[in-house]
Order: sequence, then structure tokens, then C-alpha cells
Amino acid sequence: MEDKVYDVVIVGAGPSGLTAAIYTSRRSMKTLVISKDIGGQISLTEDVENYPGFESIGGLALAQKFQAQAAKTGVEYLFEEVCQIEKQSTGDFVVQTGSKKLIKAKTIILAFGLTPRNLEVPGEKELTGKGVTYCATCDGPLYRGKNVVVIGGGNSALDAAEYMSKLANQVYLLVRKDKFRGESVLVDQVRAAKNIKIIFNAAVTEVKGTSRVEALVYQITDGPKEEIAVDGIFVEIGHLASTKWLQNLNLNLTERGEIKITVDNETNVKGIFAAGDITQITYKQAVISAGEGCKAALQAYRYLQGDKPLTPDWTPKK
Ligand code: NDP
Repeated sequence: MEDKVYDVVIVGAGPSGLTAAIYTSRRSMKTLVISKDIGGQISLTEDVENYPGFESIGGLALAQKFQAQAAKTGVEYLFEEVCQIEKQSTGDFVVQTGSKKLIKAKTIILAFGLTPRNLEVPGEKELTGKGVTYCATCDGPLYRGKNVVVIGGGNSALDAAEYMSKLANQVYLLVRKDKFRGESVLVDQVRAAKNIKIIFNAAVTEVKGTSRVEALVYQITDGPKEEIAVDGIFVEIGHLASTKWLQNLNLNLTERGEIKITVDNETNVKGIFAAGDITQITYKQAVISAGEGCKAALQAYRYLQGDKPLTPDWTPKK
């Protein structure tokens, strides 16, 4: 184990983690960000048009701007998975990474976002990376001129379908309900695209193919099973909170596995804070995650200062 003790280890490098890093580092906290990648979900978004200050910016480009800004303040990065966090009797933490590195920290900010939900149908696992993909932005260009299906009815699916309509020959958009869940501006764009065929009330039942995806089988509500021949399947059906690995800390979680936080981003474990999509906040948006990361950082700083208030007390004096 390294002797170095970080004031804060931030797990995750999306908008919440990187904003937290900018704030902790600017408060002279020795900060380490540990993450598998930079940007999280935002880096997989083709065009971000709702982050204030940027009329339109690529998701990855935005994430790289966060990273560069954080790096300027002296933040250190480690690109690895975190496997375990243990609280010691001193109140400090030991963070264990996938390569068995052990890192000491006085506080922790959990900001590792959500992970893509799977279809859980036969053939999906076997053909993942062989035509089944969870990222249109990353893999879309591989399907230029081909026939693809996008699954889902939320903003991610609408975004992916619209993006793929510019590259692919034919795009099928399979929605399991009879309506979309996403924003009307995206719905209008999808409806306007000539090569997107929308299929409502369709539940996926199987992915077919030997060495690569060949077809998708789905069942129309109260109707027959249908099969469409496609080269690629883009699964855009939302995300799950993967928090089982934190079990030993006895963190309070919601039914969906999200980390429960107070209005100031504290968890029920002293010294552990959380921010962004992995928490119970309702709106999972980049700009909100950035703000939440800021709050978590300031609260971690305050904790290290002995929980003294950072801002003046606004309570009216009698
Ligand atoms: P959502 O949870 O919003 O939508 C998931 C969609 O997948 C729903 O239509 C859901 O159907 C469907 N679904 C879930 N499970 C299955 C399944 N097993 N088979 C078929 N369909 C399934 O997730 P998103 O990833 O779309 O969005 C997540 C968040 O990110 C949202 O807050 C969204 O607004 C935001 N976002 C914003 C973007 C933007 O502003 N441009 C771009 C991308 C995401 P059902 O409705 O039946 O549950």
C-alpha cells in the first residue's frame, strides 16, 4: 500500500466526478480520480445541445474539457476499476483497484454513474461485440450503408436512431410501448427521417446469428412473432445502478440500487459522499450531475474542516 494519503478519492470521471475534482483540488485537497474511462455516458452522446455555455458540443469533447480543466488544478488520474472500499477504524478509507493497488483516502466521492441495461434475451450475450452494441456513437460508423435496429423509446434510443439514420441504409426503431418516453424535439427529428421505420408495441425475444448478428426476433403485443434481417442491433434501453460491490460499507440504497444522499450529498457513511446519476436524484442530466459534483466536493471539504459551515449562516437573526 502506498504511504500517500489522498484527501479525497473520486470514483468516476463523468460530469459529476470531474466537477467534484475541480472543486476539491481548488480547495487544495489532494485529489485522485479513479475511473475506467473519461466522461462516462456523456462521452457516448453525439451532440450535447443542453449544456449551458455550449449551443452544441460533442459529448466526448465536453468531457475532455472537464478533464483538462481538472488536470490544470493538479488532479491526479488513475484509469482502473475500483473493486472495493473499506472503512478503517481511524475513519480513513482504503480503496482497492482491479490491479490490486491499495490507496488511502480521508474522504470518498462516489460518482461512477450507471451501467447500460441488457435485453436479457437469447443470443444477446453471445453476439455482443458481433453486431450487438450499446453505444451508437462509438460503433455507428461501422454500420454505414447497412440495416440496423435501435431498441428503446427514451432519449438515448431517439438520439441513436436519428444519428444512425445519417449513416445506415435502413433504421428500425423498436419501442415496447405504444409511445415514446423522450423529448418531443427528438421525436420530431426521428419522425422526419425518411429511413427510420418505427415499430411500437414490440418486445424483443431473440437475437439471431451464428458468428455475427443476422436478425432480430420480436413479438407484437397480442400479435405474432416477427423477424427482421439486420446487421446491427443498438440496445438503448436505459441504465442500471451497479452498487452491489459496495455492500460491505452498508450504504443506504434505493430499491433500484441508487445511493441515497442528503440534500448536501452525504451518504449514511461518514466521509463518503455521492453525486450524479448513481444517486437517487430524479433528473439524470449532465448539467445536474456537474452541480451535484460541486456540492459533494464542498461537503467533503467541509467534513475535513471539522464540519464547520463554509458559507455564512443565512438564518434570520431575531
Ligand atoms: P430511459 O430510462 O429514459 O428509457 C429507456 C427506454 O428503454 C424506455 O423506452 C423503456 O421502455 C425501454 N426499455 C427498458 N427496458 C427494455 C427492454 N427490456 N426491452 C425494450 N425496451 C426497454 O433511458 P434513456 O437511456 O433513454 O435515458 C436516460 C436519461 O438520460 C434520461 O433522463 C434521458 O432524458 C437522458 N438522455 C438525454 C439525452 C438528450 O438530452 N439528448 C440523450 C440521452 C439520454 P418503457 O418506456 O416501456 O419503460
